[in-house]
Amino acid sequence: MVVLTERETCRPLPWLEAALQQALNGAHHSHALLVHGPSGTGSFGFALALAAAWLCEQPSADQTACGHCTSCRLLAARTHPDLHLIVPEALRAEAGLPVEAQDGEDVRKRKPSREIRVEQIRAALDFCTLTASRGRTKVVLIHPAEQINAIGANALLKTLEEPPAGVRFVFSCGVSPESLLPTLRSRCQLQRLPLPDRALALAWLLDQGVKEGDVVLDASGGEPLRALAMVRSGLDGAAWRALPDRLARGDATALADWPLPVLIDALQKYCHDHMLHAIGCAPRYFSATALSQGGPPVRSALMALTRWAIELRELAQDAEHPWHAALSCEALVSHAQGVLREAGGSIHSRP
Ligand SMILES: [Zn+2]
Repeated sequence: MVVLTERETCRPLPWLEAALQQALNGAHHSHALLVHGPSGTGSFGFALALAAAWLCEQPSADQTACGHCTSCRLLAARTHPDLHLIVPEALRAEAGLPVEAQDGEDVRKRKPSREIRVEQIRAALDFCTLTASRGRTKVVLIHPAEQINAIGANALLKTLEEPPAGVRFVFSCGVSPESLLPTLRSRCQLQRLPLPDRALALAWLLDQGVKEGDVVLDASGGEPLRALAMVRSGLDGAAWRALPDRLARGDATALADWPLPVLIDALQKYCHDHMLHAIGCAPRYFSATALSQGGPPVRSALMALTRWAIELRELAQDAEHPWHAALSCEALVSHAQGVLREAGGSIHSRP
């Protein structure tokens, strides 16, 4: 799952301020920057804030964008002629871009693509050869870089090697740079984004009106944007806290309206935490209380949990596939209850 922020533009999220300064200070030596970090920490907004700073007419003393000049306003409206923004069709609305029919085709009639198509890369290369409209700098922003396929990466190769004067690239990605194509990675300066400081993340979630921020932040692996997306999709802290008890009782009614990819993700996290509990480690996504209700850690539970983890991973790989509609929430919950009982002493086993 890729998580974007809504519209933040000229300023990055509070936990990324230091990384932005680092990138602005260090980016003089490179025309291509690869921003990477967990996808729910704000890498897209960070890349936009960088582009805004490079294009701003009156940058602040710390080199960040002023937020109110014509360039900053055009960028906020996504109409800046010197910014070429590439995202997959499926992310256009989230990135603040109009959702258009492409090549005259009505995209509402099919599932929007999650990949960056080579035609989009070629359009960006055409953009590079044009003269900048407003200043001396032009920026190509591509997100998420992990969705560029080998043909697209090869098309970029020459331009990344010898970019036209004044053109800068910023790629953002939510995976390790090691999993990107070497042709792309090796031509970029890397900028890693950290997981946010917990206090900053909780304060930000509170500002967004999120209750039980600590529960949803844990549920999302410490990624605040993922936590916010989770709450906005209807899965709040109370629902997360209630999940272990519902699974133990085999109660699927309250989970029936969770989208299957979300339910499978939650089951994977629950299974993961039970494996940690079985070997005496602290859980990551659920409270220690929820995990220890069933009793002390029991290593023999690991066999059943490992089998379940493998099954869930296979399901997750196709979680958005249409045939999943046939897979019912009841079946998943009933299976979960069975596994938890089989795993025995370390798990809830209430009737
Ligand atoms: Zn400005």
